[in-house]
Amino acid sequence: MHDDTVCTGWRDQVLIVDANVVLVERQLRAGELTCPRCGAGLAPWGHGRPREIRGDLGARLFVRPRRSRCTGCQVTHVLLPETLWPRRADAAEVIGAGLEIAALGMGHRQVAVHLGLSDGTVRGWIRRFRSRAEAVRRHFTVALVALADDPVMPEPTASPLSDAVSVIVAAHRAAATKWPRMNTVSRWSFAGRAIDGRVLTCAPSAN
Ligand SMILES: [Zn+2]
Repeated sequence: MHDDTVCTGWRDQVLIVDANVVLVERQLRAGELTCPRCGAGLAPWGHGRPREIRGDLGARLFVRPRRSRCTGCQVTHVLLPETLWPRRADAAEVIGAGLEIAALGMGHRQVAVHLGLSDGTVRGWIRRFRSRAEAVRRHFTVALVALADDPVMPEPTASPLSDAVSVIVAAHRAAATKWPRMNTVSRWSFAGRAIDGRVLTCAPSAN
């Protein structure tokens, strides 16, 4: 895919992990997290750079993600909590809320007003998501079929963006039916985890 070609060559790999840092630390020390490239265990390897994230209702969150190094291929990964997406200063839930409003047919300016964010920030998300919409829709269609006993595909609309949002919502619902603990995970955290952080970006680096 053209998109993937453009995005290759970024230095830091990202692994999306649980939002519970205590759990992740335990998993990391127990060798329970595995390398997405080679399948070997990941070991602790310092921390990524600290970053400030805008959360819901203007909350400011400070995050310093853990880093790991693969005991097999030696590649380092930044372990990003599922509440965040790579290279974004806003929490997954905030961006996802914007995409859901956009899916209702609103333009980026209206979405920005709803969220109290700048036009440019919201325009960037929507533009990225539009360029990814077909790949995202396909990914979550496969996930929906795998998760649901009797999968019901959302009706296609004239908007690839809306179709991609609808299938994410349906896949999250199917996941929550299958695993009730998913009810406590927002659909946009679920989405980021399920697609390895590539909701807006094809081959994420950590920055
Ligand atoms: Zn590896």
